[in-house]
Amino acid sequence: MLLSGVHADFLSNGSSAMDVSNKILVGRPYGGKAILYRKSIADHISVVPTNDRRLTAVKMQTRHGPVLIINVYMPTDYHDDDSLDQYMETCGRINALITDYDVVEVIILGDFNCSSGSRMYDNFRDLMRSNKLVCSDMNILTDAFTSCNSDKSCVSWIYHILCTNLLNSVIYDLQVLYDYMLSDYKPLSVRFSQLFPCDSHEQYDYENAGIAQHCWDKLDDLTRLHYAAYIDQLLQKVLPVELLECLASDGRCDNCNHHQIIIDYYNEVLCCVETAVNTYVPSKHSRPTSEDVYNVPGWNEYVREKHSEARSTFKLALRYCRQNELQMRLMHVQLI
Ligand SMILES: [Zn+2]
Repeated sequence: MLLSGVHADFLSNGSSAMDVSNKILVGRPYGGKAILYRKSIADHISVVPTNDRRLTAVKMQTRHGPVLIINVYMPTDYHDDDSLDQYMETCGRINALITDYDVVEVIILGDFNCSSGSRMYDNFRDLMRSNKLVCSDMNILTDAFTSCNSDKSCVSWIYHILCTNLLNSVIYDLQVLYDYMLSDYKPLSVRFSQLFPCDSHEQYDYENAGIAQHCWDKLDDLTRLHYAAYIDQLLQKVLPVELLECLASDGRCDNCNHHQIIIDYYNEVLCCVETAVNTYVPSKHSRPTSEDVYNVPGWNEYVREKHSEARSTFKLALRYCRQNELQMRLMHVQLI
């Protein structure tokens, strides 16, 4: 493949933006997206088939477990219903990919064709919300742009980097490469620290690692109260008494021993939260099994709306049938 010849140290997974499955060519002839990775980490990378020319994905083994990386080229908004449908469909496919692969950590990046306040922004935010992602570039940068015309009178910010909280917290550099001259589009660059080393020879074992997705939406009100009370109780046991005096005084603290106490306190708080969550919040291992798939590919707000409509109509029909059972039986007999 041409892409793999870009640099001797790199391998790639990529696709053209052109749809060549059809005799009519659709897409940008110079576009496309790819994921290039160093040969030195090839052991950690596996290609994830997406069956969608708008998405290219790989799974990367890291010290935080497997990370799903999806490079996207989202549909352009032509201000018609079709664009919106296509946008939602692509979001649905991304949701399905994330559900189908045994990952907790996710990075989605690329051309989202969407900026704050644009028509697709709600879908973009839904995508983040349903996968618990943050938009790292919008968190870190202000007044950035990723495309502009020649005199910069018209700029837009449509390239984004979405990732899970943990990965967002290990970003050490994120910037738009404004010096890039070859196009009006300016690349977005992000660097993560501490992704490696991980033991490449040992497949990350989710079930045994005990990493689970907690289903907060399945928590009922009573359990939520128990959870809150329990976490209160646990937190009271880890109060850093050594710091109380220091916190109460207005002066600056110069006791270096307190650094370690703060670090320990932080870890203890995390432990309390983890214990309470594991005790009260229902969980599901990230790897979906045949009887345990609760995320339906293609499920989106259109479907949700139609689903509740269909459901209420069904309930109405059911009530009508129950109330008029005798009459309906008679009608049925007459019809026969
Ligand atoms: Zn102190």
